[in-house]
Amino acid sequence: MFDYLIVGAGFAGSVLAERLARVANKKVLVVDRRSHIAGNAYDCHDQHGILIHRYGPHIFHTNSADIFSYLGQFTEWRQYQHRVKVCVDGRLVPMPINLDTINELYGLRLDPEGMKRYLSSVAEPRPELVTSEDVVVASVGRELYEKFFRNYTRKQWGLDPSELDAQVTARVPVRYNRDDRYFTDKFQAMPARGFTHMFGNMLDHPNIKLLLNCDYREISREIPCTTTIYTGQIDQYFDCCFGPLPYRCLNFKHETHHRPVFQSAPVVNYPNEYDYTRITEFKYLTGQEHASTSIVYEFPTAEGDPYYPIPRPANAALYKQYQALAEKTPDVHFVGRLGTYRYYNMDQVVGQALTLFARLAGPNQAALRAVA
Ligand code: FAD
Ligand code: UDP
Repeated sequence: MFDYLIVGAGFAGSVLAERLARVANKKVLVVDRRSHIAGNAYDCHDQHGILIHRYGPHIFHTNSADIFSYLGQFTEWRQYQHRVKVCVDGRLVPMPINLDTINELYGLRLDPEGMKRYLSSVAEPRPELVTSEDVVVASVGRELYEKFFRNYTRKQWGLDPSELDAQVTARVPVRYNRDDRYFTDKFQAMPARGFTHMFGNMLDHPNIKLLLNCDYREISREIPCTTTIYTGQIDQYFDCCFGPLPYRCLNFKHETHHRPVFQSAPVVNYPNEYDYTRITEFKYLTGQEHASTSIVYEFPTAEGDPYYPIPRPANAALYKQYQALAEKTPDVHFVGRLGTYRYYNMDQVVGQALTLFARLAGPNQAALRAVA
C-alpha cells in the first residue's frame, strides 16, 4: 500500500517523491510513461560517449538560495554562465541585445548612454505591455524587433508575438552594457555529473518505488493509494472534457561532428533562416572534454510531445476551467509545467513542488531547509 502515487519523474514528481519519502516517511510510487527518470531535463551519454540533453538544452539558474541548496544535496555543481549568439544579417551577435549587439550590427561605437539615446529614438512607446510584441517594440523599436524577435517567435510558437502574452519575450531582456550572459541569476550552474545522475540520487530511497514505461492511465485503477500527485497534462487527466489545451511541440535532431568544436557559442539562434530555431553544442554546457562534439537542432511543430504551454489569454481561460475542476478533486494534486499549464523554468517547478510539499506535510515538517 502506497501513501502517494506520483505521476511523472521530472522535477515536480521527483522533488515531491524525495521530500515525502525522506522527510515525511511516506511510501511513494512514482510512475513515468517514459523509459527514464528526469523528465525533460533527462541527459545521457550518446553513442560517442558525449553527454547530451535529449530534450534540448537545460541550464540551471535561480535566484533562490533555498532551491539551489536543496538540489545541492543531490549533486555537486559545475559553475556555468550560459551565453547565446544570434545570427542576424549574416553576423553572429550577442543575445540578449546588449551594447556589443548594437555596435556590431550597425558598425557603431556607442557607449551605454549612446545606446540608451539610440533605442529611445527608435522605441515605440506603448501605453501597456500586454503582448510579446509590445514588450519588444516598446524597448528596442520595430527594426530590431523584426530582426531578432518576430520570426523566431513565429517559428517557435506558430503565432505572431502580438498573439502571445508579454511574459514570453520578456524572458529575454535588453542590456545597456556589455554583459553577454543569457541569465543574470545569482546561482547559475550545471549538475557536475548531469541531471539524470542528480535525479537518481533524489529517488534513491527505500520508501520510493519507481515504475518506468508505465502510463498512469493504464494502472490508475489498480494502485491501492489514497492520494495522487499528477505532473502530466492537466487536460489529459480530465479526458480533455473542455477541449484540449494547446501545447507547442519540438522535434530534436541530434548530430555528432568529428571535430572538437562545432560553433562559436553554446547556443546559436537562427530567427530568420531555416526551419529550426537554435543549435546547441553540449560540451560548452557540460564542460566535457572529447575529440568529437554533439549538437542538437530544435524544430518547433504543432504535433507531438507537449513541451511548452502556450501563454495567451484564450489558453489561460481554458486552463482556468480545468483548474476549477482540479480544485473539486481534493485527492489529486496538480503540479509542474504540464500539471499547472505554466511556462516555468526548472527552479520555478522545484519551488512549486516544495511549496506543495510544505502544504501536504503540514506546519511541523521543515519543508524547504530539511537536509539529510
Ligand atoms: P516534465 O519534465 O515534463 O515531467 C513530467 C513527466 O511526467 C514526464 O517525464 C512525462 O513522461 C510524465 N508523464 C506525463 N503524463 C504521464 C502519464 N499519463 N503517465 C505517466 N507519466 C506521465 N528550464 C530551465 O530552468 N532552464 C533551461 O535551460 C530550460 N530549457 C528548456 C529547454 C526545452 C527545449 C524545454 C522543453 C524546456 C526547458 N526548460 C528549462 C524547462 C524545464 O524542462 C521544465 O521547467 C521542467 O523540466 C519541468 O518539470 P516537470 O516535472 O514539471 O515536467
Ligand atoms: N526569442 C526571440 N529571439 C531569440 C530568442 C528568444 O524571439 O533570439 C523569444 C521567443 O519568443 C522565445 C522567447 O523569446 O520563445 C523566450 O526565449 P527563451 O530562450 O527563454 O526560450 P526557451 O529557452 O524557453 O525556449
